[in-house]
This record gives sequence, C-alpha cells and structure tokens, in this order.
Amino acid sequence: MSNNRRGFLRELASVVTAAKDAPEPVVPDLSDAEVERYSRQLVLPEWGAAAQLALIEASVLVIGAGALGSPVGLYLAGAGVGRIGIVDDDAVELSNLHRQLLHFTPDLGTPKAESAAAKLRFLNPDVVIEPYQVRVAAANAPALVEGQDLVVDCSDSFATRYAVNAACCAARVPVVEAGVLGMAGMVMSIKPGRTACYRCAFPTAPADAPRCADAGVLGPAAGVIGSLQAMEALKLLTGVAPAIADGFLQVDLATAEFLRVRVARREDCPDCSPL
Ligand SMILES: [Zn+2]
Repeated sequence: MSNNRRGFLRELASVVTAAKDAPEPVVPDLSDAEVERYSRQLVLPEWGAAAQLALIEASVLVIGAGALGSPVGLYLAGAGVGRIGIVDDDAVELSNLHRQLLHFTPDLGTPKAESAAAKLRFLNPDVVIEPYQVRVAAANAPALVEGQDLVVDCSDSFATRYAVNAACCAARVPVVEAGVLGMAGMVMSIKPGRTACYRCAFPTAPADAPRCADAGVLGPAAGVIGSLQAMEALKLLTGVAPAIADGFLQVDLATAEFLRVRVARREDCPDCSPL
C-alpha cells in the first residue's frame, strides 16, 4: 500500500474519532500489511483506528470450536483480535462437517481445538491462537475466563452455558451467549453487573432440552447465529454500536423472523445479583 493511501486512512480515522468527541484521536502504529488487511473495516465511519487498536490489544476466549465457534473464530481472527483462546475437548467427526466450517474431511479424528487453531493461523498469522483441549465445567470455568477481555460461549449445552455465565459474572468479564437448534437460535450479550445475565433470562434449563444429535440443526442456521455472536463480540470490544443487552435476539430462520426479547435483571439471580 502506498504511503499516500496509508496516510489517507490514518487521517480519516483521526477525523472520524475526533468527530465522535473522543478526547484524543488514537492512531495505532499499524504496519502497511495491517492497514491493507483491515482496510475495509478501517474506513467504516463507525470503526477507524481506535477500534482496530482495541481489537489488537484484546484477549478473547471462544468456548467451543463447533458450529457456532467456527464463524466466531473466523470473523474474530479475520478482524484482528490480538489473542484468541479456543476451548474444545472433542475430536472432529464426520457428522460435524456440514455445519462446523473450521474443520475439513482430512481433519477427522483431530482435536477440534487444534484443527481450529491451524485454520485460524492460516487466516491471520498476526493473531495469537491458543488451543485448550479441555471440557468446560463449573470447576474450571473461573480459571479459563480469568484475565479475558471477552468470552464468546459457543458451547452446546445449558450446563456449560450456566457455568460460563456464572464464571463471567463473578470475574466481571463480558460474555456473548448463544444457542442454536434446528432452524432457530438466540443471541445475548451480557455485561456483568450492568445488564441482565443468561441466568436472569433463563433461570432454569428445560427438563427435556433436545440436543443437535436428536433434533438436528441446519448449517446456515448455525452460521447466522455464530455470525451474530461475532458481531456482538466486535461491538463489545470496540463500542462501535450497542450490543444486544438486557435481553436477547430470538432468530427463526424458517420464518425469517428476528424478535428482540427484553429481559430485566433479577434481584434474586444467583449469578449476577451480588454484583
Ligand atoms: Zn443474572
């Protein structure tokens, strides 16, 4: 990229930042390659250099490298999040491949965390990718989320989502929760102590919650929900737009209906009420 082009982008970023009444324009020391790689988001009026710097300095933990974790990992690594942890203890199976876009047929039998990390390093070698081949549970969730700027929960069970929500609330780490099944799903951003948490929205798990293996799931449905999670993550990390907080977005891909459901914080919530 020419110096003129790079200078234009920096000048544009400074003007946009100043126009939003920020105290001082922040211009990160981006290399020519970084300016080129991120140019299509750098020129967004809402984005600019300050948002890019926030991403580069961020550490994000993605829990699950499956149907939701695949688009989340791809978009966050592509956007330039500085450090991404990928947590998954499963291995790639043939039945995963119709919806889990980070894994290919030659990856069968490979740990998903390693398979995902390899693809994300190919996509963006500037991002530090850390695979963790562990199963997330209430016992280890606090240690995993400690020190993260954001957690994106792409797990596939109520038990894991509750464990992640509780750990993130306790550590005051923002988290994006989501779920998908069949042709529908939901997405919710949580700022612990400030907005309703996952437990506020869903105090107890349904007694007979179906699983993907039994009820099925379509790949594009998971892709939409995972992409929404990635969008929420970028909003929470940069502040460029309001997140889906104090409620969740319910998505029905069969009818193409998106419904915003409001949720108030519960005074008796065991996860977030003491905050
Ligand atoms: Zn709560």
